[in-house]
Amino acid sequence: MTPQPGVLVSDFDGTMTRHDFYKLVIESLLPSDTPDCWAEYRAGIITHFEALRRYFAAIRASEAEVLAVVERMELDPELPAAVEELRRAGWSVVVTSAGCEWYIRRLLGAAGVEVEVHSNPGRFETGKGLLMEMPTGSPYLSPMLGVDKKEVVRRQIADGRTVAFAGDGFPDAEPARLVPGDLRFARGDLANVLREEQLPFHPFETWGDIARVLLGQRD
Ligand SMILES: [Mg+2]
Repeated sequence: MTPQPGVLVSDFDGTMTRHDFYKLVIESLLPSDTPDCWAEYRAGIITHFEALRRYFAAIRASEAEVLAVVERMELDPELPAAVEELRRAGWSVVVTSAGCEWYIRRLLGAAGVEVEVHSNPGRFETGKGLLMEMPTGSPYLSPMLGVDKKEVVRRQIADGRTVAFAGDGFPDAEPARLVPGDLRFARGDLANVLREEQLPFHPFETWGDIARVLLGQRD
């Protein structure tokens, strides 16, 4: 059954792109003796936001080197056409990410994709790294995550819209649980979480797959 058009809320890293920015940063831009912020996050010592903020602030590469890493995230080449086709069918696309707007807007802008983005603001300063900040003033502000994806989905549902959600990570589980199974798209860790919970979803490889299902071209 083809769902009624509505809004597709999408994660960015690993969902619209093949790779996560923070993982490429850790692999390519940080000294091997950089503290393991994820371990501190998992141990409950620091927040998810603070772990990312520390990694990004530890970057000492030039802006050009960091932008080369942003390129390596590999935005889905089908994204511009898929967003346009969805739009023509009545689906709007909202990007929500607990990462940083700085690289999201660069990749989307370079691909000519204009969509609503809710993420954490940031700026690059040579010698200081990528300085990510809390989205103060955002209706989706979370002290733990910066932007709270679950809240983005919750508000769209509260406004009476048909809401689809796509993601790939553990933090995507909460927003994914809020939408119906036929409008839930997952890969990676999110897919594993949903399988364990026996919650239905559409698996996807690339973002273009999601658009094809929503447009009724494939089940
Ligand atoms: Mg992700």
